[in-house]
Amino acid sequence: MQRHNFSAGPCVLPKEVLQKASEALLDFDNGLSLVEISHRSKSFVDIMEQARALALELLGLEGKGYKALFLQGGSSLQFLMVAQNLLEKKAAYLNTGTWADKAIKEAKIYGDILEVASSKAANYNYIPKGYEIPEDYDYFHCTSNNTIFGTQIKKFPKSPIPMVCDMSSDIFSRTLDYSQFDLIYAGAQKNIGPAGTTLVIVKEDILDKVSRKIPSMLDYKAHIDKSSMFNTPPVFAVYTSMLTMQWLKDLGGIAAIEKENDKKSRLMYSEIDLNPLFKGFAAKEDRSDMNATFTLLNDDLKETFDTMWKEAGINGLDGHRSVGGYRASMYNALSLDSVKALVEVMSELESKA
Ligand SMILES: *Cc1c(COP(=O)(O)O)cnc(C)c1O
Repeated sequence: MQRHNFSAGPCVLPKEVLQKASEALLDFDNGLSLVEISHRSKSFVDIMEQARALALELLGLEGKGYKALFLQGGSSLQFLMVAQNLLEKKAAYLNTGTWADKAIKEAKIYGDILEVASSKAANYNYIPKGYEIPEDYDYFHCTSNNTIFGTQIKKFPKSPIPMVCDMSSDIFSRTLDYSQFDLIYAGAQKNIGPAGTTLVIVKEDILDKVSRKIPSMLDYKAHIDKSSMFNTPPVFAVYTSMLTMQWLKDLGGIAAIEKENDKKSRLMYSEIDLNPLFKGFAAKEDRSDMNATFTLLNDDLKETFDTMWKEAGINGLDGHRSVGGYRASMYNALSLDSVKALVEVMSELESKA
Protein backbone atom coordinates (compact mmCIF):
# COMPACT_ATOMS: atom_id res chain seq x y z
CA MET A 1 0.00 0.00 0.00
CA GLN A 2 1.26 3.49 -0.83
CA ARG A 3 1.83 5.41 2.40
CA HIS A 4 1.21 9.13 2.88
CA ASN A 5 3.36 10.31 5.73
CA PHE A 6 2.03 13.44 7.44
CA SER A 7 4.14 12.93 10.56
CA ALA A 8 5.29 16.14 12.30
CA GLY A 9 8.81 14.94 13.00
CA PRO A 10 10.77 12.80 12.46
CA CYS A 11 8.99 12.79 9.17
CA VAL A 12 8.92 12.05 5.47
CA LEU A 13 12.18 12.16 3.48
CA PRO A 14 12.58 11.83 -0.29
CA LYS A 15 12.52 8.14 -1.33
CA GLU A 16 15.64 8.54 -3.48
CA VAL A 17 17.51 10.06 -0.53
CA LEU A 18 16.56 7.07 1.65
CA GLN A 19 17.65 4.75 -1.15
CA LYS A 20 21.09 6.36 -1.46
CA ALA A 21 21.52 6.60 2.30
CA SER A 22 20.77 2.91 2.75
CA GLU A 23 23.23 2.00 0.02
CA ALA A 24 25.93 4.02 1.81
CA LEU A 25 25.09 2.24 5.04
CA LEU A 26 26.04 -1.05 3.40
CA ASP A 27 28.80 0.02 1.05
CA PHE A 28 30.13 3.54 0.94
CA ASP A 29 33.82 3.16 0.31
CA ASN A 30 35.07 -0.05 -1.31
CA GLY A 31 32.96 -2.42 0.77
CA LEU A 32 33.05 -0.34 3.95
CA SER A 33 29.97 1.26 5.45
CA LEU A 34 29.63 5.01 5.86
CA VAL A 35 29.28 4.39 9.61
CA GLU A 36 32.48 2.34 9.92
CA ILE A 37 35.03 4.62 8.30
CA SER A 38 36.90 7.44 10.03
CA HIS A 39 35.17 10.79 10.07
CA ARG A 40 38.65 12.17 9.36
CA SER A 41 38.90 10.20 6.10
CA LYS A 42 38.92 12.30 2.96
CA SER A 43 35.62 10.83 1.80
CA PHE A 44 33.77 11.93 4.93
CA VAL A 45 35.53 15.30 5.24
CA ASP A 46 34.35 16.00 1.67
CA ILE A 47 30.77 15.17 2.66
CA MET A 48 30.85 17.52 5.63
CA GLU A 49 32.22 20.30 3.44
CA GLN A 50 29.59 19.67 0.77
CA ALA A 51 26.82 19.70 3.37
CA ARG A 52 28.03 22.98 4.87
CA ALA A 53 28.40 24.59 1.46
CA LEU A 54 25.01 23.39 0.21
CA ALA A 55 23.23 24.82 3.26
CA LEU A 56 24.67 28.28 2.61
CA GLU A 57 24.11 28.01 -1.14
CA LEU A 58 20.44 27.04 -0.84
CA LEU A 59 19.77 29.94 1.53
CA GLY A 60 21.70 32.42 -0.63
CA LEU A 61 24.19 33.13 2.14
CA GLU A 62 27.50 32.30 0.47
CA GLY A 63 30.22 34.90 0.85
CA LYS A 64 28.21 36.95 3.34
CA GLY A 65 30.15 36.19 6.50
CA TYR A 66 28.14 33.13 7.58
CA LYS A 67 29.34 29.69 8.66
CA ALA A 68 27.26 26.51 8.59
CA LEU A 69 27.69 23.87 11.28
CA PHE A 70 26.18 20.44 11.79
CA LEU A 71 26.00 19.98 15.56
CA GLN A 72 24.32 17.55 17.93
CA GLY A 73 21.87 17.95 20.80
CA GLY A 74 18.90 19.00 18.68
CA SER A 75 17.26 22.39 18.61
CA SER A 76 16.73 21.95 22.34
CA LEU A 77 20.48 22.37 22.87
CA GLN A 78 20.41 25.50 20.71
CA PHE A 79 17.91 27.04 23.13
CA LEU A 80 20.74 27.32 25.65
CA MET A 81 23.72 27.48 23.30
CA VAL A 82 22.35 30.66 21.70
CA ALA A 83 22.10 32.29 25.12
CA GLN A 84 25.46 30.94 26.25
CA ASN A 85 27.17 32.53 23.22
CA LEU A 86 25.19 35.73 22.74
CA LEU A 87 23.51 36.78 25.95
CA GLU A 88 25.56 39.16 28.06
CA LYS A 89 22.80 40.81 30.09
CA LYS A 90 19.39 40.73 28.43
CA ALA A 91 17.64 39.41 25.34
CA ALA A 92 14.25 39.87 23.68
CA TYR A 93 12.06 36.91 22.70
CA LEU A 94 8.82 36.53 20.77
CA ASN A 95 6.66 33.86 22.37
CA THR A 96 4.61 32.11 19.68
CA GLY A 97 4.45 28.54 20.94
CA THR A 98 5.72 25.67 23.02
CA TRP A 99 9.18 25.72 21.43
CA ALA A 100 9.61 29.47 21.86
CA ASP A 101 8.49 29.09 25.46
CA LYS A 102 11.14 26.42 26.02
CA ALA A 103 13.80 28.62 24.41
CA ILE A 104 12.82 31.43 26.80
CA LYS A 105 13.05 29.11 29.80
CA GLU A 106 16.62 28.10 28.94
CA ALA A 107 17.73 31.65 28.12
CA LYS A 108 16.52 32.83 31.55
CA ILE A 109 19.37 30.84 33.07
CA TYR A 110 21.78 33.31 31.45
CA GLY A 111 20.16 36.71 31.84
CA ASP A 112 17.01 38.82 31.79
CA ILE A 113 14.47 37.96 29.15
CA LEU A 114 11.93 40.38 27.78
CA GLU A 115 8.95 38.80 26.02
CA VAL A 116 8.23 41.43 23.36
CA ALA A 117 4.86 39.77 22.68
CA SER A 118 3.10 36.48 23.35
CA SER A 119 0.05 34.63 22.02
CA LYS A 120 0.07 32.18 24.91
CA ALA A 121 -3.29 33.42 26.29
CA ALA A 122 -4.95 32.37 23.01
CA ASN A 123 -3.27 28.95 23.05
CA TYR A 124 -0.88 30.30 20.40
CA ASN A 125 -3.41 30.34 17.57
CA TYR A 126 -1.95 33.49 16.00
CA ILE A 127 1.33 35.40 15.52
CA PRO A 128 1.56 38.68 17.49
CA LYS A 129 2.37 41.73 15.38
CA GLY A 130 3.19 45.40 15.90
CA TYR A 131 5.54 44.87 18.84
CA GLU A 132 8.73 46.85 19.36
CA ILE A 133 12.19 45.33 19.52
CA PRO A 134 14.28 47.45 21.88
CA GLU A 135 17.73 48.54 20.73
CA ASP A 136 19.63 47.97 23.94
CA TYR A 137 19.16 44.20 24.10
CA ASP A 138 21.75 41.63 23.06
CA TYR A 139 19.58 39.87 20.46
CA PHE A 140 16.02 39.13 19.36
CA HIS A 141 14.84 35.51 19.12
CA CYS A 142 11.84 34.21 17.19
CA THR A 143 10.46 30.89 15.91
CA SER A 144 9.62 31.00 12.20
CA ASN A 145 7.11 28.15 12.22
CA ASN A 146 5.16 26.79 15.16
CA THR A 147 5.09 23.09 14.46
CA ILE A 148 2.56 22.29 17.18
CA PHE A 149 0.02 25.08 16.65
CA GLY A 150 0.33 25.49 12.89
CA THR A 151 1.23 29.16 12.70
CA GLN A 152 4.07 30.72 10.73
CA ILE A 153 5.66 34.16 10.64
CA LYS A 154 4.98 35.52 7.13
CA LYS A 155 6.75 38.85 7.53
CA PHE A 156 9.68 39.18 9.90
CA PRO A 157 10.16 42.35 11.94
CA LYS A 158 13.02 44.73 11.20
CA SER A 159 15.32 44.12 14.12
CA PRO A 160 17.80 46.74 15.32
CA ILE A 161 19.70 43.98 17.15
CA PRO A 162 20.96 40.58 15.91
CA MET A 163 18.04 38.36 14.94
CA VAL A 164 18.12 34.67 15.91
CA CYS A 165 15.56 32.29 14.45
CA ASP A 166 14.53 28.73 15.27
CA MET A 167 13.63 27.42 11.79
CA SER A 168 13.40 23.75 12.76
CA SER A 169 10.14 23.12 10.96
CA ASP A 170 10.28 25.32 7.87
CA ILE A 171 13.89 25.73 6.86
CA PHE A 172 14.41 25.31 3.07
CA SER A 173 10.66 25.57 2.47
CA ARG A 174 10.23 29.15 1.21
CA THR A 175 12.14 32.03 -0.35
CA LEU A 176 13.12 34.71 2.14
CA ASP A 177 15.93 37.16 2.50
CA TYR A 178 17.90 34.93 4.84
CA SER A 179 20.53 37.60 5.38
CA GLN A 180 18.09 39.39 7.72
CA PHE A 181 18.99 36.71 10.27
CA ASP A 182 22.25 36.56 12.18
CA LEU A 183 21.80 33.06 13.50
CA ILE A 184 19.49 30.32 12.23
CA TYR A 185 19.13 26.87 13.74
CA ALA A 186 17.10 23.84 12.75
CA GLY A 187 16.98 20.27 14.00
CA ALA A 188 17.44 18.07 10.93
CA GLN A 189 14.48 15.77 11.54
CA LYS A 190 11.80 17.96 9.96
CA ASN A 191 12.95 19.32 6.65
CA ILE A 192 16.57 18.21 6.33
CA GLY A 193 17.29 14.63 7.30
CA PRO A 194 17.21 12.07 10.11
CA ALA A 195 17.31 13.06 13.78
CA GLY A 196 20.79 13.39 15.24
CA THR A 197 22.14 16.59 13.77
CA THR A 198 21.17 20.25 13.97
CA LEU A 199 22.02 22.78 11.32
CA VAL A 200 23.33 26.06 12.72
CA ILE A 201 24.07 29.01 10.47
CA VAL A 202 25.81 31.85 12.21
CA LYS A 203 27.18 35.18 11.13
CA GLU A 204 30.67 35.21 12.54
CA ASP A 205 30.73 38.87 13.50
CA ILE A 206 28.07 38.42 16.22
CA LEU A 207 30.34 36.06 18.19
CA ASP A 208 32.96 36.92 20.81
CA LYS A 209 30.78 39.53 22.46
CA VAL A 210 30.08 37.90 25.84
CA SER A 211 32.42 37.92 28.81
CA ARG A 212 31.60 34.49 30.23
CA LYS A 213 33.80 31.46 29.64
CA ILE A 214 32.13 29.07 27.22
CA PRO A 215 32.78 25.30 27.43
CA SER A 216 34.26 24.18 24.09
CA MET A 217 31.38 21.91 23.08
CA LEU A 218 28.95 24.81 23.56
CA ASP A 219 31.15 27.36 21.82
CA TYR A 220 30.21 28.17 18.21
CA LYS A 221 33.74 29.45 17.62
CA ALA A 222 35.29 26.13 18.63
CA HIS A 223 33.05 24.34 16.13
CA ILE A 224 33.80 26.90 13.40
CA ASP A 225 37.55 26.63 14.04
CA LYS A 226 37.36 22.85 13.58
CA SER A 227 35.16 23.01 10.47
CA SER A 228 32.24 21.37 12.30
CA MET A 229 34.48 18.44 13.29
CA PHE A 230 35.37 19.44 16.83
CA ASN A 231 34.40 15.94 17.88
CA THR A 232 33.01 12.96 15.97
CA PRO A 233 30.03 14.25 14.01
CA PRO A 234 26.86 12.16 13.49
CA VAL A 235 28.08 10.89 10.14
CA PHE A 236 24.91 9.19 8.95
CA ALA A 237 22.68 12.15 9.79
CA VAL A 238 25.07 14.59 8.10
CA TYR A 239 25.38 12.42 4.99
CA THR A 240 21.62 11.99 4.64
CA SER A 241 21.09 15.73 5.20
CA MET A 242 23.61 16.42 2.45
CA LEU A 243 21.67 14.11 0.13
CA THR A 244 18.40 15.92 0.90
CA MET A 245 19.98 19.30 0.21
CA GLN A 246 21.42 17.93 -3.05
CA TRP A 247 17.95 16.63 -3.96
CA LEU A 248 16.51 20.06 -3.30
CA LYS A 249 19.19 21.78 -5.34
CA ASP A 250 18.57 19.41 -8.27
CA LEU A 251 14.84 20.21 -8.10
CA GLY A 252 15.63 23.89 -8.58
CA GLY A 253 16.27 24.96 -4.99
CA ILE A 254 13.98 26.70 -2.54
CA ALA A 255 12.09 28.69 -5.20
CA ALA A 256 11.01 25.44 -6.87
CA ILE A 257 9.95 23.66 -3.68
CA GLU A 258 8.12 26.77 -2.51
CA LYS A 259 5.79 26.47 -5.52
CA GLU A 260 4.99 22.87 -4.58
CA ASN A 261 4.54 23.74 -0.92
CA ASP A 262 2.17 26.50 -1.97
CA LYS A 263 0.01 24.12 -4.00
CA LYS A 264 -0.09 21.64 -1.13
CA SER A 265 -1.07 24.13 1.55
CA ARG A 266 -3.67 25.84 -0.67
CA LEU A 267 -5.35 22.54 -1.42
CA MET A 268 -5.25 21.53 2.24
CA TYR A 269 -6.66 24.79 3.60
CA SER A 270 -9.34 25.10 0.96
CA GLU A 271 -10.68 21.70 2.04
CA ILE A 272 -10.52 22.68 5.72
CA ASP A 273 -12.44 25.91 4.95
CA LEU A 274 -15.00 24.51 2.50
CA ASN A 275 -15.77 21.22 4.21
CA PRO A 276 -18.45 21.97 6.84
CA LEU A 277 -17.28 19.10 9.06
CA PHE A 278 -13.89 20.68 9.79
CA LYS A 279 -12.56 23.85 11.32
CA GLY A 280 -9.04 25.28 11.12
CA PHE A 281 -7.22 26.04 14.39
CA ALA A 282 -4.86 28.89 13.46
CA ALA A 283 -5.75 32.46 12.47
CA LYS A 284 -6.05 32.50 8.67
CA GLU A 285 -3.38 35.10 7.94
CA ASP A 286 -0.85 33.22 10.09
CA ARG A 287 -1.48 29.71 8.84
CA SER A 288 1.59 27.57 8.40
CA ASP A 289 2.41 26.14 4.98
CA MET A 290 4.13 23.27 6.77
CA ASN A 291 1.74 22.17 9.53
CA ALA A 292 -2.03 22.52 9.05
CA THR A 293 -3.96 22.15 12.31
CA PHE A 294 -7.70 21.45 12.28
CA THR A 295 -10.49 19.80 14.23
CA LEU A 296 -13.69 17.93 13.53
CA LEU A 297 -16.71 19.98 14.59
CA ASN A 298 -18.64 16.85 15.55
CA ASP A 299 -16.62 14.46 17.71
CA ASP A 300 -19.03 11.61 16.95
CA LEU A 301 -17.39 11.36 13.53
CA LYS A 302 -13.91 10.86 14.96
CA GLU A 303 -13.90 7.07 14.90
CA THR A 304 -15.16 6.90 11.32
CA PHE A 305 -12.72 9.55 10.10
CA ASP A 306 -9.75 7.94 11.88
CA THR A 307 -10.55 4.56 10.34
CA MET A 308 -10.94 6.11 6.89
CA TRP A 309 -7.62 7.95 6.78
CA LYS A 310 -5.74 5.02 8.22
CA GLU A 311 -7.25 2.76 5.56
CA ALA A 312 -6.12 5.24 2.90
CA GLY A 313 -2.49 4.70 3.96
CA ILE A 314 -2.22 8.01 5.80
CA ASN A 315 0.18 8.20 8.75
CA GLY A 316 0.82 10.73 11.50
CA LEU A 317 -2.34 12.85 11.32
CA ASP A 318 -3.13 13.03 15.05
CA GLY A 319 -2.85 16.53 16.48
CA HIS A 320 -0.44 17.39 19.28
CA ARG A 321 -1.97 16.88 22.74
CA SER A 322 -1.89 20.62 23.46
CA VAL A 323 -4.13 21.40 20.46
CA GLY A 324 -6.08 18.17 19.89
CA GLY A 325 -7.75 17.35 16.59
CA TYR A 326 -5.53 16.81 13.59
CA ARG A 327 -2.29 18.10 12.16
CA ALA A 328 -1.23 17.54 8.57
CA SER A 329 2.51 18.18 8.29
CA MET A 330 3.42 18.92 4.68
CA TYR A 331 7.19 19.14 4.65
CA ASN A 332 9.25 19.45 1.47
CA ALA A 333 9.36 15.71 0.75
CA LEU A 334 5.59 15.19 1.03
CA SER A 335 4.03 15.03 -2.43
CA LEU A 336 0.96 16.89 -3.65
CA ASP A 337 -0.56 13.45 -4.28
CA SER A 338 -0.43 12.73 -0.55
CA VAL A 339 -2.37 15.92 0.17
CA LYS A 340 -4.86 14.93 -2.55
CA ALA A 341 -5.30 11.57 -0.83
CA LEU A 342 -6.09 13.25 2.50
CA VAL A 343 -8.45 15.80 0.95
CA GLU A 344 -10.28 12.95 -0.79
CA VAL A 345 -10.85 11.19 2.52
CA MET A 346 -12.14 14.42 4.07
CA SER A 347 -14.63 15.02 1.27
CA GLU A 348 -15.68 11.38 1.34
CA LEU A 349 -16.49 11.83 5.02
CA GLU A 350 -18.60 14.83 4.11
CA SER A 351 -20.59 12.85 1.57
CA LYS A 352 -21.16 10.07 4.13
CA ALA A 353 -22.18 12.31 7.02
C1 LIG B 1 10.87 19.96 16.80
C2 LIG B 1 11.20 21.34 17.16
C3 LIG B 1 12.15 21.64 18.16
C4 LIG B 1 12.82 20.58 18.99
O1 LIG B 1 13.83 19.99 18.30
P1 LIG B 1 14.76 18.86 18.96
O2 LIG B 1 15.72 18.60 17.86
O3 LIG B 1 13.88 17.69 19.28
O4 LIG B 1 15.40 19.42 20.17
C5 LIG B 1 12.44 22.97 18.38
N1 LIG B 1 11.84 23.95 17.70
C6 LIG B 1 10.92 23.71 16.74
C7 LIG B 1 10.28 24.84 16.01
C8 LIG B 1 10.57 22.39 16.44
O5 LIG B 1 9.66 22.14 15.49
